[in-house]
Amino acid sequence: MSFVDVQNVLVVGAGTMGAGIAQVAARAGYATQLFDVAPGAAAKALDKIAESLQKAVDKGKSTPDERTQALARLTAATDLDAAAAHADLVVEAAPENLELKKELFARLSKLVKPETILATNTSSLPVTAIAAAAKGPERVIGLHFFNPVPIMKLLEIVHGERTSPLVLTAAKAIGARMGKEVVVVRDAPGFATSRLGIALALEAMRMLEEGVASAEEIDRAIELGYGHPMGPLKLTDQVGLDVRLAIAEHLRGELGERFNPPQVLRRMVRAGKLGKKSGEGFYKY
Ligand code: NAD
Repeated sequence: MSFVDVQNVLVVGAGTMGAGIAQVAARAGYATQLFDVAPGAAAKALDKIAESLQKAVDKGKSTPDERTQALARLTAATDLDAAAAHADLVVEAAPENLELKKELFARLSKLVKPETILATNTSSLPVTAIAAAAKGPERVIGLHFFNPVPIMKLLEIVHGERTSPLVLTAAKAIGARMGKEVVVVRDAPGFATSRLGIALALEAMRMLEEGVASAEEIDRAIELGYGHPMGPLKLTDQVGLDVRLAIAEHLRGELGERFNPPQVLRRMVRAGKLGKKSGEGFYKY
C-alpha cells in the first residue's frame, strides 16, 4: 500500500474552512473537488475562492496565470460517491460534531481506494475516535488548518493512536507542498493550539469578571506585551463565543475543572452575543 502519490484531493464540507483548504490544495497543484451536502454551497465556495485568488493577484502575491491554473484545477462535486472513488486524499471540513464526522468517515472509507488518506480538519475532537469508525483507521489523520487558510502558515498534524507512520510522512509532504509550516502532535484533547488558545481566553474572561481591566486593556496588554497579533477576547469574538464554549466544555470533560467555562461566557452565549457573526461579543461590530 502506498500513501505517497497524492494527485486528487476531495474536500468534504464547503464552508469557511473547506473553501480555504480547497483553495490552497488547488494552488499547490492538486486536482481538487469540493463537496457539500447543502445544495449550491460548493459552487458558492468556488466563487469565494475565485475572489480570494483575485485579491492575491491584486496584492502582487500571485500571478493572473497562477490564478487561472488554480481555478482550472477546482470543481464542485455533486456526487460524493463518485468524487470519493477518485480521491487520493480526502479532507473533511464538516461541522464540529463527533457523530456526524464518524458517520462521514464510515461512509467515505467504504467509497475510497485502499491507499486513500482520510483527513479531518477537526479543531478539538479525538481523531482516534473518528478513525475508529472508518474501515482502515491507519489511514486516518488530523490535518488542522487555521482560518483564513490561505494566509495562516500553520498546519497542525494530529496523529491518532492507529495512524500509520507512512500516512504521517505523506501528510508532512502534503503540508509542505501547500506552503504550510507543520507541527506534529499526538491525539491529546485540544491538540496543542486549541488547548493553549482556550486556556488563555478563559483566563482573560475570568480577569474581565474580576474587574482586573477592560476587554480592550486585556487584549492590548497581550498584543503589545507579548507580541500576539490579536488579544484572546478579540480572537474569541472572531472564532465565535458559542464555538469556544463548546470547546471549553469538551476540554473540561477530558482534562478537568481548569477548563470550566466562566459565567460571563455562558451568559453571553445565552444572550446570543456570539461575537463578530452576531454583531456583539466582547466588542460591538
Ligand atoms: P462551516 O459551518 O463554515 O462549514 C461546514 C460545512 O459543512 C457547511 O457548508 C455544511 O453545509 C457542510 N456539511 C454539513 N454536513 C455535511 C456532510 N454530512 N457532508 C458534507 N458537508 C457537510 O464550518 P467551518 O468553520 O468551516 O468548520 C469546519 C470544521 O473545521 C469543523 O470541524 C471546525 O471545528 C474546523 N475548524 C474551524 C476553524 C474556524 O476558524 N472556523 C478553524 C479550524 C478548524
